[in-house]
Amino acid sequence: MSPVSVTYWGISGYVIFWVLFALALGLFLRRMYQLGRYLSLGRGEGGFGHMARRLLNTAVSVLGQWCQLKNLTTKDRASIGHVFMAWGFFIYIPFYLLFIIIGGGFGLSETMENTSLFFYYAWVMDIVAPFIILGALWGIIRRYIMKPSRLEGEQTIEAMVILVTVFIHPMTHLFKEATGIALGYPPVGLGTSLPPISAALSQLFAGASPSSVQMANIGFFWAHWGFVLFVLVFIAYSRYLHMVASIFNVLLQSPPPKGALRPIDLETAETFGVSKITDFTRKQLLDLYSCVVCGRCQDACPAYASGKPLNPKKVILDLKEHLLAVGPGLLSGKAETAANPGESLIGEVVTEDEIWACTTCYACQQVCPVANEHIDKVIDLRRNLVMEQASIPETAEGALRSIEDRGHPWRGTTLSRTDWTEGLGIKTLAEDSDIDILFWVGCTGALEDRSIKVSQAVAKLLKLAGIRFGILGAEESCCGEPARRLGNEYLFQIQAEKNIELLKSYNVKRIVTACPHCFNTLKNEYPQLGGEFEVIHHTDFIAQLLKQGKLRIIKGIDDGAVTYHDPCYLGRYNDIYQPPRQIIRSIPDMRMVEMERNRNDSFCCGGGGGHMWLEERIGRRINELRTEQAMETEAQIVVTACPFCLQMFDDGIKAKAAEEQLRVMDIAELVAESAVYHPYSV
Ligand code: SF4
Ligand code: SF4
Repeated sequence: MSPVSVTYWGISGYVIFWVLFALALGLFLRRMYQLGRYLSLGRGEGGFGHMARRLLNTAVSVLGQWCQLKNLTTKDRASIGHVFMAWGFFIYIPFYLLFIIIGGGFGLSETMENTSLFFYYAWVMDIVAPFIILGALWGIIRRYIMKPSRLEGEQTIEAMVILVTVFIHPMTHLFKEATGIALGYPPVGLGTSLPPISAALSQLFAGASPSSVQMANIGFFWAHWGFVLFVLVFIAYSRYLHMVASIFNVLLQSPPPKGALRPIDLETAETFGVSKITDFTRKQLLDLYSCVVCGRCQDACPAYASGKPLNPKKVILDLKEHLLAVGPGLLSGKAETAANPGESLIGEVVTEDEIWACTTCYACQQVCPVANEHIDKVIDLRRNLVMEQASIPETAEGALRSIEDRGHPWRGTTLSRTDWTEGLGIKTLAEDSDIDILFWVGCTGALEDRSIKVSQAVAKLLKLAGIRFGILGAEESCCGEPARRLGNEYLFQIQAEKNIELLKSYNVKRIVTACPHCFNTLKNEYPQLGGEFEVIHHTDFIAQLLKQGKLRIIKGIDDGAVTYHDPCYLGRYNDIYQPPRQIIRSIPDMRMVEMERNRNDSFCCGGGGGHMWLEERIGRRINELRTEQAMETEAQIVVTACPFCLQMFDDGIKAKAAEEQLRVMDIAELVAESAVYHPYSV
């Protein structure tokens, strides 16, 4: 076929293109402006420091697609499709910008398409196109044929439109190029071969007349740009919005440590927590725009899995729907319009049962590809319930009152904080403050029968290793963690300030604790109130002692196979996964078998977020689900490193009448039972 000069424009085409472009851009910007104004209804929050680190994190997460790749497992390969589509778009989008900016300035396509820049760019787009098509195809297959549980009910027209546009759009590019090549355009002779896929497709048009190929070429050109402009508009009106919102959401996500909840300034706060959509921060509202409805949080959530009324995805989507419904009324100042923007979210948009069902296990945030932060929203809603409305489940209220009155949440206990030390020769700091490390025992470790044995095991190990340690004894008071997770920030801050003052008065520098909840609070939350200490979890500490040779294990216990349960506040919150596994592997004759859900995919025991003091009235018990998962491994011991997990498994094993099959131990007990010697005493 002889070369034919192709023009997509003519003067009318030129005008049509720009009119359509202006229309699409106008609709896009109008909606973005509107969405931006709804965001502005949220509370402003400063302090977005560390911009270089944020930008790097965003580049890795978004450009590098770590947000998706982190979830790639043998069970879930959905990320592959998204990565193909996203990387493809990252290559296509600059081309469109070039086309509009440079092409527009030079009289559009004819000039631009004859440049080497265009030629080489077209080459890259040619290679990338099949990957985008495959990614979209994979998405369609998964969503509409395989239908994994997390995508149940998500076979919507909106989702289909998105996937189909992603599927067809690169095809129109390929066929536009293919017909162009069939027409002898773009010109060869730039010293490189033609884009291979378009060149191959051009053979389809080998026998066709030049005029029909030219018609097809023009058709594909307009179809391609039609899709581009449609997607531009659709981004602003559909879940495509995540393409824009999630970039900013990742950029502005809460800074580390991830275990620290945002404090309330009790001196200046006019209201506590969130009761209206406008009580959320702008970042919290941005979360709502960013959700891509992937359902990963739903799949990961133990509350949802156990039949509780909580689904983190639904919470995000309900809040988004509410914001979009009440936004116009709030902006126009007509608070009483349609969906009454002034009304409380609690009960109307998010129910109390949803709010109290969260164990704050972090599984939803761990998997969310757009860095949504579900937990702070739940806690803000709890804060309002507890601190403004005095509405809290009775059992939790009892625990909080016990902290206020007795400094611990275990009302009814007859034990004192030092009963567990009887006969062990452990000194309190009041007796002798010349120590290297403080053993922070925690309320559960001191006052709950089963956990007392763990405290004794830790003390035994510290002694065997020759560590100079002490405890606070009667002076120790609840770290405040249950109060904070149950929404009583006021009580948390009182407890924290009291403890910080006490620790400083004894000049404590290093703290070891066997409770991941105390550990997380002392390590990550006390610095918010001026308490900076080196806090070490006992798993880490024991692993160090073994490594340094200060402890030595010379024989294993009888039971052969053990499985390890990662406590949420140790694993997902503080990334401590390896030390407990190293300890177990260092025990002779001990075989380690992993549960299917382990490490950052671990399934909550059901005890976090104040749930040790909340009744599980609805659905199955989370601890029983986790116990079943442990039993599936056929291990004889489930090892954990948290007093709450210990109790939860203990109850779970009893409920399943599985005492003969499985027992639960803390890692310190396992080491203490495995014959430990100070090397110098052997
Ligand atoms: S923190 Fe855990 S329990 Fe709460 S919503 Fe997320 S996954 Fe569910
Ligand atoms: S909140 Fe995150 S994990 Fe949950 S559905 Fe939305 S994007 Fe997916």
